[in-house]
Amino acid sequence: MGKKYLMESYTRFDVNFEKGIGTKLYDIEGKEYLDFVAGVAVNCLGHCHPAIVKALDEQSKKLIHVSNLYWTPTQTELAKKLIQYSDHDTVFFCNSGTEANETAIKMARKYGKLTGDAEKYEIITMENSFHGRTLGSLSITGQTKYQKDFMPLMGGVSSVRFNDIDDLQKKISEKTCAVIIEPIQGEGGIIKADETFLVEANKLCKEYNALLIFDEVQCGIGRSGDLFAYQSFGVVPDIVCLAKGLGGGFPIGAVLANEKASIFKPGDHGCTFGGNPLGCAVSLAVFKELIENGVLEGVKEKEQLFKAEIEKLMLQYNFIKKIDGKGLMLGIHLEVEAKKIVGKAFEKGLLIIGAGKNIVRIVPPLNITTDEIKKGLEILQEIFKEVKSELELA
Ligand SMILES: *Cc1c(COP(=O)(O)O)cnc(C)c1O
Repeated sequence: MGKKYLMESYTRFDVNFEKGIGTKLYDIEGKEYLDFVAGVAVNCLGHCHPAIVKALDEQSKKLIHVSNLYWTPTQTELAKKLIQYSDHDTVFFCNSGTEANETAIKMARKYGKLTGDAEKYEIITMENSFHGRTLGSLSITGQTKYQKDFMPLMGGVSSVRFNDIDDLQKKISEKTCAVIIEPIQGEGGIIKADETFLVEANKLCKEYNALLIFDEVQCGIGRSGDLFAYQSFGVVPDIVCLAKGLGGGFPIGAVLANEKASIFKPGDHGCTFGGNPLGCAVSLAVFKELIENGVLEGVKEKEQLFKAEIEKLMLQYNFIKKIDGKGLMLGIHLEVEAKKIVGKAFEKGLLIIGAGKNIVRIVPPLNITTDEIKKGLEILQEIFKEVKSELELA
């Protein structure tokens, strides 16, 4: 494997994947895995979906890249789709989640400059949040474990307890230019925001003339059961950051803004590869499958199936505390280490991941079948049974 050549920035599983079809992955020895990770909420249509393959094939024969100094019909069409389905007015395209958040940070800073005094540059983030690895996004990430070796970070950031409106009320001020929230926290442990928290946070942002930014990099694009996660909570933020599922596996990110937040002028920001024809063509294919071909429609039903089955397991295994999350972004909160469950699942050919220390995260392709869900849950049940007997022996 690549150990000799690659930087050690990841802890990787001992497997080499060669191909994938739908919810299944195959390693170089031909062993099959059921994929409940989907590239961490990226492959929303599973692996090598024919619509994605076709879009790549057709677009790659026409035009792969031109500079953003020029227009392309593909980029315009995708922007139009995003605006049509959202409550926003303009789009900026980039390649990744962290880039989307960097963009939002710059928009917020400029908004503060234009509408407030020189001190209106503070960004409020949530404890336990995750917004990416580049220095700006890392600075607004509410988890010191990702930050400690890279100090000093960008200044002007303060954090409040997630879902604690009193804490936000205490810390927000005229100096605040933006508040950033993941409507469903991902890396921090699959924790849903309370609807009332988001509603009140929105009010406070209006009161203090701060932008409300939703980082929907993980929970957007159908993951929550609605196309945009904010639609699941009934709060429309000023800015929405997207990436992961947007290209169904092809790297593309986007930032949506309402009129108030559409602040950039020529020269303010840029991204060489952002919105290139290939990425936009794939993303258009993803939208078509999600919306016109009914994939999105099935997500809430699949959520119910997962939740009902896991709630049954909770009755049998008292180390399962609760199931949180929404749509097909679910977290099983446990009293045992997630690592243990994830490792056992891997051995049995089921891919799942942790989120935080004690949470098993389930983010499968959105077009996963009912049979595949049941198969994965059977494997999980076997594992819980093993863990129970191990705990009894200990
Ligand atoms: C994954 C993730 C990011 C970072 O995205 P990258 O594409 O890895 O830069 C940012 N925010 C959230 C909520 C994420 O889940």
